[in-house]
Amino acid sequence: MKEHYAIAIDGPSGAGKSTLAKAIAAELKITYVDTGAIYRTIGYVAWQRGIAPEDEAAVLSLLPQLEIGIAHGGEDGLQHMLLDGEDITDQIRLPQISMYASAVSAIPGVRDYLLETQRTFARRQSVIMDGRDIGTVVLPDADIKIYLTALPEIRAQRRFLELEQRGTPKPFEEVLAEIIERDYNDMHRDVAPLRAAEDAVVIDTSELDFEQSRELLLKTIEERL
Ligand code: C5P
Repeated sequence: MKEHYAIAIDGPSGAGKSTLAKAIAAELKITYVDTGAIYRTIGYVAWQRGIAPEDEAAVLSLLPQLEIGIAHGGEDGLQHMLLDGEDITDQIRLPQISMYASAVSAIPGVRDYLLETQRTFARRQSVIMDGRDIGTVVLPDADIKIYLTALPEIRAQRRFLELEQRGTPKPFEEVLAEIIERDYNDMHRDVAPLRAAEDAVVIDTSELDFEQSRELLLKTIEERL
């Protein structure tokens, strides 16, 4: 087994990336880096300040003003996002922030701004990093690349249950429409569109439960390390 390695996990929302990556990170005792949370933080600021997330100039002018902190290794083992010192880990999960994150992430200057930060994590420690362009752009030399996917209806069903459990329910049709729209935007943007890297292992979790997905992922990773 290698001492220092990187695992890249990409795929559309709701495929189970973050839940599975967290579990794998705990099992392998490596750091889980959630790159979506960083885009969400910028989307959150745009939302908070009433800035249209597609307004490239306005969003870019925000960046130098922000003090974004990304903390790993706390007691809960999770990644916490800080904005000007305040922990906003929960706020960025609000349903309305997803589309803001997706829109700001299509701005090339935003992606460039975050690239080095993401790469630095992987240089400093072994990571499992999830996002949309980790295997293709951020860590093209990752030791293992996984493209995790599932049918849109299944992903929407998972998201629907998650929203219900969080106390912010939404009609299933709305959740499905949003998932389809966000996938479309993420796959069709000009910079770093969501796609499987040529050397990625594609795993479809449509017919797998959490435990089955976790086992398959772990087996895939261990075979390659
Ligand atoms: O993964 P999560 O759903 O939290 O990501 C929110 C949004 O951030 C995604 O819809 C995507 O548009 C964007 N994103 C990205 N590249 C990444 C991670 C997330 O463009 N590496």
